[in-house]
Amino acid sequence: MTHCVKLAQMTNKDDPWKRHRTLKRVSLLGVVLYLFPTIALAWLGQIDMRSPTMYVLVFGWMIFGLVMLTLWHEVRCPRCGQRFYAKGMEFWQMARECLHCGLPKYADVSTAPEHTSGQ
Ligand SMILES: [Zn+2]
Repeated sequence: MTHCVKLAQMTNKDDPWKRHRTLKRVSLLGVVLYLFPTIALAWLGQIDMRSPTMYVLVFGWMIFGLVMLTLWHEVRCPRCGQRFYAKGMEFWQMARECLHCGLPKYADVSTAPEHTSGQ
């Protein structure tokens, strides 16, 4: 579990990926605490799909999704300072590397040597 040790060490100093992690956590919490219970309640018949409550829940979820997407869109790459997940009209929230400089997500920016080869 060297990966966990590395993660723990990284959180001690100024983490350039803090916003990425926070966003990921909040998105996950939103899904777990909001979307899953809503789906479960609707599935169990506890919520009438045509009731105002359902509309409020769906509307609330859409607002949450839009806010999260906007925040994801604005997150910057720690190395090149460009939008990590967006390039022009391109936007891929699940991107594993920077769309501008190719920096892998959660890479150690401070110590990692610049890999410019292979481009
Ligand atoms: Zn970059």
